[in-house]
Amino acid sequence: MTQSHEYSEKLWKEALHYLPGGVNSPVRAFRGVGGTPFFTQRAKGSHLWDVDGNEYIDYVCSWGPMILGHAHPKVVRAVQEAARDGTSFGTPNPREVRLAQLVCEAFPSIQKVRFVNSGTEATMSAIRLARGFTKRDKIVKFEGCYHGHADALLVKAGSGGATFDVPDSAGVPADFARNTVTLPLNDFTAVDAVNWREIACVIIEPIPANMGLIPLKSGFLEKLRKLTQESGALLILDEVISGFRIARGGAQELYGIQADLTTLGKIIGGGLPVGAFGGRADVMDMLAPVGPVYQAGTLSGNPLAMAAGIATLEELSQAGTYEKLERLTTTLCDEWKKIVKGHHVRIGSLFCTFFTDRDVVDYASAKTSDTKRYGRFFHGMLERGVYLAPSQFEVGFVSLAHTEADIEQTLRAATEAVRAL
Ligand SMILES: *Cc1c(COP(=O)(O)O)cnc(C)c1O
Repeated sequence: MTQSHEYSEKLWKEALHYLPGGVNSPVRAFRGVGGTPFFTQRAKGSHLWDVDGNEYIDYVCSWGPMILGHAHPKVVRAVQEAARDGTSFGTPNPREVRLAQLVCEAFPSIQKVRFVNSGTEATMSAIRLARGFTKRDKIVKFEGCYHGHADALLVKAGSGGATFDVPDSAGVPADFARNTVTLPLNDFTAVDAVNWREIACVIIEPIPANMGLIPLKSGFLEKLRKLTQESGALLILDEVISGFRIARGGAQELYGIQADLTTLGKIIGGGLPVGAFGGRADVMDMLAPVGPVYQAGTLSGNPLAMAAGIATLEELSQAGTYEKLERLTTTLCDEWKKIVKGHHVRIGSLFCTFFTDRDVVDYASAKTSDTKRYGRFFHGMLERGVYLAPSQFEVGFVSLAHTEADIEQTLRAATEAVRAL
């Protein structure tokens, strides 16, 4: 409560002058909760320090990538070693092969993979590939699911789209949006009504985590798997958040389902810009230079980014990783539920509390949340040294660096913040 924010306030004024909205990605601007964002000076383990020296327990974790915690020694060393040998070659490099091997071993459905520089590039390219493979134009997505900011996918989108009530972005031609069929999440009837024979692919977050956290109803993924298989459409599972977080093999391992194509990002770059899409070899071999679907990248497979990804995935493959994440998050959430009123969801190391009395099953019910109240709670927590997502429609991330002491401090802060509401 005695925090000073002088330097952050000063930087924010300058940022607003030079950067649209002061940021390079919308949700960072705190518009979902009000107030001025802090500028981070450094981060270590589960903690962030801002430029004014305030310390926070971090439950955003760079929106997912920092599953080992910030500045993990093995990741830092791997990046330093890679940098010493040069930062980009524009030729094949051995680290691309190693990271590809780690991804393919973790996901049985991924026979071949291509690396890109963000989750957005991964989903955008996977959609183009699905269209090229099936020779069909239409795609299916679900309301409130976020798959990055490519034109075809910014239709009824989550994440910033949900926070700012602009699920349909300006600048997306109606001619493009027409080819995106959008359905309510968890709606079996709506899925049955689609003419799947004209659909190139359906893309879904198997663990929807961009409108808050909403579990899929049992049988929903299986239904999509069956309908696509029967009609020749492709099933794309967007595991940019869930890949290597929910289990090593992502939601596909948890639910025992196989995608035709999978998109990855966040964790596989260990905090550097990496995305990937991969899947069936017959589909992936439609990509240039083998096939007619073009996709490329000057910095794709970048040695620094690959090094950070390899170090992260190797560390995650140690025994007990996911059990530990589950245990930590359960410890937090079991007490949290008793303190904070609302609709609580936890899946693995992801958690979310909707500030609503309603049962949340889709985008419409998520939007019944009291976002003003969430904003006040967010600031109550921030003042007490706990950084939650600056939007009701994002999730909390727990890392392997979070400790029992962090959790105790978080729960004490929550008790006080709720009392102050
Ligand atoms: C973050 C995210 C993306 C986009 O990834 P960027 O690296 O931000 O472009 C795509 N899909 C899902 C499910 C995501 O959470």
